[in-house]
Amino acid sequence: MLKRLLLVGMLCIPVAAWAFFKPVRVIAPELAGVSCINDTLCTDDVSRFQEVAKLYDEALHFVGSSVGSIENKPRVIFCSTDACFQSFGFKKQAGANIGIFGIAISPRAWQPYYVRHEMIHHLQNEKLGMIKAWREPQWFMEGMAYSLSEDPRAKLSEPFEQYRSQFENWYNRVGKDRLWTEARNL
Ligand SMILES: [Zn+2]
Repeated sequence: MLKRLLLVGMLCIPVAAWAFFKPVRVIAPELAGVSCINDTLCTDDVSRFQEVAKLYDEALHFVGSSVGSIENKPRVIFCSTDACFQSFGFKKQAGANIGIFGIAISPRAWQPYYVRHEMIHHLQNEKLGMIKAWREPQWFMEGMAYSLSEDPRAKLSEPFEQYRSQFENWYNRVGKDRLWTEARNL
């Protein structure tokens, strides 16, 4: 019983804490002055609808064909201003992923490879489960996102450059077919 109570406690605390954390707004972006064009696409600048729809579709197809198929299409919020992005509780990142709930894209990240990067994080959460994904080594999570999004930067800032080459060495050894099975053993 005590064990059971402890387990319930352990499961509830992060959820309760998370509920007060700003990224909860990714689930209800209307609260942050963002309009959702459909279930999966939101922006604070609806005049750029075609641009965001194109970025979304390109990333979804790219990740689906070159990394793995996404089961539930993620909700992506494209912020055209820093104020919008910061209202979700983020600052320096180009984009941010809240488990499988949604993705927020900052004004500087309206680029195909950034959107793909965040969709890869979404896929990691789907394939591995949020808890396992959270416990995976950073070289795997970030290295994979930088590498398989085909980020064009020849040299990334550290530690991401190191993560990317570590992932690429691992991936060459493991191969695409065994990617997720091997990832679960990391
Ligand atoms: Zn990342």
